[in-house]
Amino acid sequence: DKTASRNFIQQIIDADRAAGKNAGRVHTRFPPEPNGYLHIGHAKSICLNFGLAKEFGGKFNLRFDDTNPAKEEQEYVDSIVDDVNWLIAGFGETEGFRVQGSAKTSSTEPSLLNPEPFFASDYFDQLYAWAVQLIKDGKAYVCDLTAEQMREYRGSLTAPGKDSPNRNRTVAENLDLFEQMRAGKFADASRTLRAKIDMASPNINMRDPVLYRIKRAHHHRTGDKWCIYPSYDYTHGQSDSIEGITHSICTLEFENHRPLYDWFCRELGIHHPQQIEFARLNLTYAVMSKRKLLQLVQEKHVTGWDDPRMLTIRGLRRRGYTPEAMRAFCERIGVAKFNSTIDMAWLEDAIREDLNERAPRAMGVLRPLKVVLTNLKEGETIELDAPNHPQKPEMGSRKIPLTREIYIEQEDFMEEAPKKFFRLKPEGEVRLRCAGIIKCDEVVKDAAGKVTELRCTFDPDHSRKVKGTIHWVSAPNALTAEVRLYDHLFGVENPDNAPEGKTFLDNLNPNSLEILKDAKLEPSLKKAKPGTSFQFERTGYFYVDPVDSKPGQPVFNRTSTLRDSWTK
Ligand code: ATP
Ligand code: MG
Ligand code: MG
Repeated sequence: DKTASRNFIQQIIDADRAAGKNAGRVHTRFPPEPNGYLHIGHAKSICLNFGLAKEFGGKFNLRFDDTNPAKEEQEYVDSIVDDVNWLIAGFGETEGFRVQGSAKTSSTEPSLLNPEPFFASDYFDQLYAWAVQLIKDGKAYVCDLTAEQMREYRGSLTAPGKDSPNRNRTVAENLDLFEQMRAGKFADASRTLRAKIDMASPNINMRDPVLYRIKRAHHHRTGDKWCIYPSYDYTHGQSDSIEGITHSICTLEFENHRPLYDWFCRELGIHHPQQIEFARLNLTYAVMSKRKLLQLVQEKHVTGWDDPRMLTIRGLRRRGYTPEAMRAFCERIGVAKFNSTIDMAWLEDAIREDLNERAPRAMGVLRPLKVVLTNLKEGETIELDAPNHPQKPEMGSRKIPLTREIYIEQEDFMEEAPKKFFRLKPEGEVRLRCAGIIKCDEVVKDAAGKVTELRCTFDPDHSRKVKGTIHWVSAPNALTAEVRLYDHLFGVENPDNAPEGKTFLDNLNPNSLEILKDAKLEPSLKKAKPGTSFQFERTGYFYVDPVDSKPGQPVFNRTSTLRDSWTK
């Protein structure tokens, strides 16, 4: 059955195309409000909308739904353009969107997208004209109720609303008052323009919703041109319509808004896109609301929007996530009609699978323990050849030095070791990756009884069978570097679910970041470029931090461990 593998949105579009709707055109959009940075939930929406446009040979718009001047900023616009471009790069057929005012990158326009992002604020004049049309048609009126009164009049799920005393103003009076609203004759919030629909509708969104508010606020694009601003509901669908969007895909909370979306398009007699709702992405150990993400940043629970523990696209990028892994994740979780919560392990599996393929291998000792190979001479260096990827000879190899003094991981030695411990123990043997076998002859301790050094003999024979293999780094050649170990920002599966008197902040994981200042890394990593990834063998995937690294002195962010140690 061919339809079984198509998600429900693809099936809707298949049917629309078969019926010749919109002349077979598919045009989607991603409509963020520029009031914060994008998060992994937005990534799902971008992948879905962009993926559909690509699949059907259609178009994809990036549009800013910038109707709320108080919370919106150019900084957010720029970061969103950049994050969207990062995510869709490599989808093919696109060079991405241009940040406002930036030069064209090439003369050939990409086919899949309109390279300039759109702004709902560019439609303010048209939206105003349409409001006037609704007034003239007797479908909208100026209302003098305060916000408080309006709430009272609106009724509830069980009780119908009451008509506003201004509901039957004449068209002439409404036109005049609306014009005065625009001209700044009234105080902020003293009047609104409302649609005249049905105060008894079982759907509260249809009880004469607000179309315009008076608000003297500087808008990041229109400046002080307007002192009235259109509501989100009044703006969103008409913006879709202006752009010729065919399928307006949004999250389930907007299901109840669909009748209103349809009402505007119908009453105005304009192109009517089809709104389709899907389940928003929720992840375990994460919060996804922009308000909460903003709070984490403002109260400095994290270092910024790009803190690698944040599930913002910025944070994930700095953590070492690739666009390919994020797209694979979005593909895998699919598109559903019912809300659910995805296990964070899915996201981590996606980046592991991607980096397993592409990240070159290296050796890094996070918590060093010195080992002296007593049968090697002081100053002697044995050059070894190490493959950059065990399954991919085409990725080449590198030289690593073996010297008399090396470091191994503290946890790879145990004095009182259980039988199944196949790493190093007194009198025991272990293989050094790419080098040979060492035997532990002597354990040196300080006055407090802490192990400070092991003295071992080295045997270059590779043919002997020894159970364990450990990583190591030459001591005199080692790069001492800062390595940051990240864990989930929250310590519980559902951080939003805080007990009485507590908030999501009480669910922060106090151990979400461990900074190691004395990691010993193989010397080839001195040249590691910011923004590249490595697998430290046996340890995890690490990304060279693009912000804090300096030439010759990279800082490494752990992207993920090699295995999922969390849910098991
Ligand atoms: P928040 O509720 O955190 O403020 P938002 O949904 O209001 O976020 P917008 O900027 O309005 O943020 O979102 C832009 C688009 O991204 C919308 O179409 C919205 O449906 C979609 N989106 C937002 N969050 C998610 C999510 N968790 N999963 C899927 N899509 C999402
Ligand atoms: Mg929103
Ligand atoms: Mg929202």
